Order: sequence, then structure tokens, then C-alpha cells
Amino acid sequence: MADLALITGITGQDGSYLTELLLGKGYTVHGIVRRTSTLSRSRLKHLFDNPAIYGRQLFLHYADLDDATTLRRILAKVRPQEIYHLAGQSHVGLSFEIPESTCEMTATATLRLLEIIRDLPGSPRCYHASSSEVFGNPAQVPQDEETPFNPASPYGCAKAFATQMVRVYRQAFGLFACNGITYNHESPRRGENFVSRKICRAAAAIKLGLEKELVLGDLTAQRDWGDARDYVRGMWLTLQHGTPEDFVFATGQFHSVQDIVSAAFAEVGLNPESYIRQDCRFLRPAEPHRLVGNPAKAKRLLGWEASTTFDALIREMTLAELTALAR
Ligand code: GDP
Repeated sequence: MADLALITGITGQDGSYLTELLLGKGYTVHGIVRRTSTLSRSRLKHLFDNPAIYGRQLFLHYADLDDATTLRRILAKVRPQEIYHLAGQSHVGLSFEIPESTCEMTATATLRLLEIIRDLPGSPRCYHASSSEVFGNPAQVPQDEETPFNPASPYGCAKAFATQMVRVYRQAFGLFACNGITYNHESPRRGENFVSRKICRAAAAIKLGLEKELVLGDLTAQRDWGDARDYVRGMWLTLQHGTPEDFVFATGQFHSVQDIVSAAFAEVGLNPESYIRQDCRFLRPAEPHRLVGNPAKAKRLLGWEASTTFDALIREMTLAELTALAR
């Protein structure tokens, strides 16, 4: 029987790369999309438009994550062997503005899915997209799978709840449920309200004379930024491992927002100082500090390693924006 996977959040950055990875491995892929999703502009348009793939190897189902009955029905019908739960409200800054719906979409929805999986026959394996935001202001640097949670945002709290629930369901009910604790991961498909994409896009737009300035928040904020394509490989490897375990996926290296600015503007041959303005609108009520991951366990047990350098990633993202805007 062909491998069968189901992805929540299939139209997002990670969902789209994971779909390509699984299709490439011969999987049949089912995706759950929100009723309000506009598929015509989605990152998977090239696959939906391909009649050899869409409706044959790739299928979509409409359901909202607060609709347990519909989710249960879809899962019972599809009977996936692997479930990748990537959906949720994923913007940290926005989670300060809409904390209740962030917790509903990110925390409660994960619990709902675990409850459904618990009742399914066939014991599907489940990957939950956890986040470095669970560590918030961590007591140890770098963080690993044993580092205590100390989230600093509503998003981090929601992810901490969901991550711990996955552990509880694994221990209490024997589910093959795993957390991938991923650090920031970017690509040309990153949402435009994330800082990497915002900077690369602005550098390209200023170069082409389409914009005049780039308004940012905290330029000193540091993160462990990697390539989304490496991280979806980690998701797949997590579910191929013999036992259900949690893994940290990270590059192990710090960079600042200023480093992205410098790399993106260098790529287009401009001096960023002439174009950057800071505005407190983009400052967050609280920032995590010293978030950098130790991926040693993923390397040891899964053979996983980040393959792209920070500079190569920012270069690719900036060139992609130049190409898209020039069109
Ligand atoms: P996050 O780590 O998931 O919140 O990813 P983001 O890309 O949204 O933000 C990364 C860091 O960039 C955070 O510390 C932000 O405070 C900082 N930052 C500085 N200026 C901006 C901005 O204009 N937009 C966003 N999204 N983040 C910014």
C-alpha cells in the first residue's frame, strides 16, 4: 500500500514544502484547508493546476480546526498513516493582539486533534509542529529537548500547552506522537509579515525604485534562523524513527535582524543606513532572549543537519523578490 499522509496547514510555507517532499517520495497526500483559504493564490497552485497530481496523488479537504466533527470524519475516511499537524496562528507579534484566538487555533486545536487520533484505528503517527517560542526566556543556552519551557508570548504559551499535551498523550495513551521543536525557518515562501521576508522584499523593492524606506522594530533582536526546506525534512525523519520522540531542529547559530538587513542590502548593492527607519509600532510587548537551539539529538538519531548557511538563505530570498517584483 502506498504511504498516506495528512497535513493540517498544507497551504503554509512548511505545508507546501512538506507536500513536495512527500509527493517526491511517492506518498499520497491529503491536506486540510480552512474554508476561507484562497487556493488560487496559494503556495501549492503549481500542484493544484497539475492534473497528473491534484485529484490523483494530492487531495484537499475543507475543515476548520474548531470543527471536531468534520475533522473526525475526514480522518476516519482518509485513514492516514502519518499526520503532520502544522496548522495554527503562527505569528508571534499578532498573538499579543489576538491571544484568545491564538490559543484556540494553536493550543485547543492540537488537543482536539489528539483526542480524535486517540480514537482512530491503525494508530497513525503524528508530528506536531512545536516552536522554540516555548522556551521564551530560557535558563540555558543553547536549548535542547530537556530545557524547561518559559514562554514569553501568548503564542509561546499556546505552543507550550500543545507540546506538553503531545507528551502526555504519548505517555498516557501510547500514541506515536512527536514534537519537532523548530527554530525560525525561512524561505522565499515565508509569509510577508515575518521579518526575513519583509526585509528581503524591501531591499529588492528599494533597489527597483518601487519603495523608498523600510520600517522595522527591534534591529538587535536575535534568532536562530534556518531554511524551511531543511526543517520539513526533519519532520518526515521524526516520523520514520523507530520510537516516538521530540527533537530540536535548529542551526545552532545566532543572527540579528540587523544581520538580515546587512545581507539583503549587500545583495542588491545598497547601503541600508540610508533606508531603514525604526518605529515602535513594530516593537513587541515582550521579546524572547537567547533563543538558539542545540540539534545534537536530531543529528545523532536522525542524521539531520541544517544544510543552508544564513548568507545563502538571505541571498536566495532577496533574489527571489527581485525576480518576482521585476515581473
Ligand atoms: P518570530 O520569531 O516568529 O516572531 O518571527 P518574526 O520574523 O516575526 O520576528 C523575528 C524577530 O524580528 C522578532 O524579535 C521581532 O521583534 C523582530 N522584528 C524587528 N522588526 C520587525 C518587523 O518589522 N516585523 C517583524 N515581524 N519582526 C520584526
